[in-house]
Amino acid sequence: MADSHLIPTYKRQPIAFERGEGAWLYDSQGNRYLDALAGIAVNALGHSHPALVAAITDQASRLLHTSNLYEIDVQTALADRLCAYSGMEAVFFGNSGSEANEAAIKLARLHGHARDIDAPRIVVMENAFHGRTLAALAATGNVNAQKGFEPMPEGFIRVPYGDLAAVEALDDTRIAAVLVEPIQGEGGVRVPPADFLAGLRTLCSDRDWLLMIDEVQTGVGRTGHWFAHQATGITPDVMCLAKGLGGGVPIGAALVAGPARTLFGPGSHGSTFGGNPLACRAALAVLDTIENDKLLAHAQAMGESIRTQIEARVGELDIVTDIRGAGLMIGIELAEPCAALVDTAREHGVLLNVTATNVIRLLPPLIIGPAEVERLVDVVCQLIETMPIPATQT
Ligand SMILES: *Cc1c(COP(=O)(O)O)cnc(C)c1O
Repeated sequence: MADSHLIPTYKRQPIAFERGEGAWLYDSQGNRYLDALAGIAVNALGHSHPALVAAITDQASRLLHTSNLYEIDVQTALADRLCAYSGMEAVFFGNSGSEANEAAIKLARLHGHARDIDAPRIVVMENAFHGRTLAALAATGNVNAQKGFEPMPEGFIRVPYGDLAAVEALDDTRIAAVLVEPIQGEGGVRVPPADFLAGLRTLCSDRDWLLMIDEVQTGVGRTGHWFAHQATGITPDVMCLAKGLGGGVPIGAALVAGPARTLFGPGSHGSTFGGNPLACRAALAVLDTIENDKLLAHAQAMGESIRTQIEARVGELDIVTDIRGAGLMIGIELAEPCAALVDTAREHGVLLNVTATNVIRLLPPLIIGPAEVERLVDVVCQLIETMPIPATQT
């Protein structure tokens, strides 16, 4: 691969897949792998789901793309559905998570300017991940990812994740919004204190800041709710979606409500591909399937089963420092760096991910079944049990 014409922006594992079915991927030799990563929370319905295949096939035979210069019925229908599930009021469609967050950042600035703030600021979190485009990268709390790309777009104020008092203590009059993940994904499947989002909601309402929730990874059933913040009973002003929404077809969305509802008008934002018929039809099939097959409750149950079984089997080991998450977004934090587990797991026929150095991250498709859960738990626990015992802390 060394002389490939691909720009080497990714450290790739030495494997390619030929086809997939349900929670399984098959390589060219016919070996099968249990997919506990789902394309990083993208393949919500697993691989080759018949409902998604049928929807895409039918749509492709009618219309792939027209233009946002025209009405697009499936886009309108998808916006209706997303608003019905979320209580949000309107949707802008893009093609990725970064783009959804770019829209949110632009909305925050419009909101600031509407309040006569010349240089509006957005409060963001340590260890946040919001994407790789420049403004999303500036919002991302990772100096390594930013390195070399300076100057970063300005206007971000960073506080520790989960620290409501730190946000409350900010007295910068230029603040226009808070951008936050309900559970940090890339940052290590970090779950904030129970009152964090509700506290931010109150604070944002009191101070006329937009509460902007990045549900790119947590949204569309991943945590056993349509959107993770719904577990806390609040409604944000802006919500960003992407990853699982199209079940593998690229689509992103920024949803608005309340004070964010009227900020964008004709000509203020746009995307050539955003919300095209193919992507919207795929997303509608994903939403239909989650609803018809009761996948929210299923994701809750399967996630609970994975977490309790792992807890019971390896929770007491010194190497395991925490098991956390919601629904099928699960993090197992170890006392040692564990990036090598990705290769070992693959050699045992399981695809998983390690993030934030020492957190095993499981993001299986929402359709994973009980027998596959048993297999996943078994392999993950075996890997953890055979990790070297950590050196005693002094
Ligand atoms: C993956 C991710 C993004 C970026 O999405 P892209 O589609 O890669 O641009 C943004 N926010 C969160 C929380 C993510 O997990």
